[in-house]
Amino acid sequence: MIVVMRIGASEADIADVIEAIEKEGGKAYVDRGVERVVIGVRTDRHDLSPDAFRMLHGVEDVIRVSKPYKMASREFHPSDTVFTVRGVTFGGKQVVIIAGPCSVESEEQIMAAARAAKAAGAHVLRGGAFKPRSSPYSFQGLGEKGLLLLAEAGRETGLPVITEVMHPRHIDLVAAYADILQVGARNMQNFDLLKELALLHKPIMLKRGMAASLEELLLSAEYILAGGYGEIILCERGIRTFETATRNTLDISAVPVIKSLSHLPVAIDPSHAAGTAQYVPSLSLAAIAAGADALMVEMHPDPATAKSDGLQSLTPQAFADMVVQCRRVAEAIGRSIL
Ligand code: PEP
Ligand code: MN
Repeated sequence: MIVVMRIGASEADIADVIEAIEKEGGKAYVDRGVERVVIGVRTDRHDLSPDAFRMLHGVEDVIRVSKPYKMASREFHPSDTVFTVRGVTFGGKQVVIIAGPCSVESEEQIMAAARAAKAAGAHVLRGGAFKPRSSPYSFQGLGEKGLLLLAEAGRETGLPVITEVMHPRHIDLVAAYADILQVGARNMQNFDLLKELALLHKPIMLKRGMAASLEELLLSAEYILAGGYGEIILCERGIRTFETATRNTLDISAVPVIKSLSHLPVAIDPSHAAGTAQYVPSLSLAAIAAGADALMVEMHPDPATAKSDGLQSLTPQAFADMVVQCRRVAEAIGRSIL
């Protein structure tokens, strides 16, 4: 449930409410909005009545959160979640651009990608080291060597890095190199992985499963929030539909829908949606126009030789041209790309 404070409620009122929540065995999450303070109450007690807090001084209303996900909901936390990873702010006015190859393949490849990403204005470098491939015979990633090369490329260019973690056993290893840990579409409902990641206290990008509803995505985010960690980016990357002209169908509605249901920042991955580089710029512009907080784009120094997802990877030049256009769209809707 949430306790909505009156406009102008004092700090003493807020402290009294927090004390009352804790006395009832609950945990209080204070959200200081522009107008008023809202206090989320997390409790396992089903018998706890809103009346326990309604009569306290400064309280305007106490509301039960109607959604199956609680802490991920906008009701629980009305203002946008904004957080900064090594100088890059997610969920704010700036649109964040994440770029890099599908997989880290060699020092030369990831360094060239990192330099091209940086030169074009990207803020975060991506690169997979543990790859979830459909076929066991496909390139599975370089593992720890890939993490090391990615981190080095990030250090050289000053870009924070994001990479996927597929197994709970690899969390500490991946966390030693990555600034943001990515949970891939295929693992969105790997609940043990989500529970373990919550304990890590490092930023997480949670990708929507290719056959998952937005409610299921938010429930997966709830696993991490309920585990005590809140710096989560939700990423739409295309879903399976009857359409075969693209690899997946980008659900652009995911942006305004998630933004209305949740306070968490939303990213779009146009590359895994399109499946073909040609369509990536249009989807990226649409994502920014729709209000996405971040874009994650696959870009490879030489897409024709890529060990994974070359077809959907932009060349450095195509990526740079796209960023110029993205900037214009961002500005048109009152945001910006630094
Ligand atoms: C990726 O981003 O490298 C990836 C494998 O994406 P997804 O999990 O969305 O398929
Ligand atoms: Mn890929």
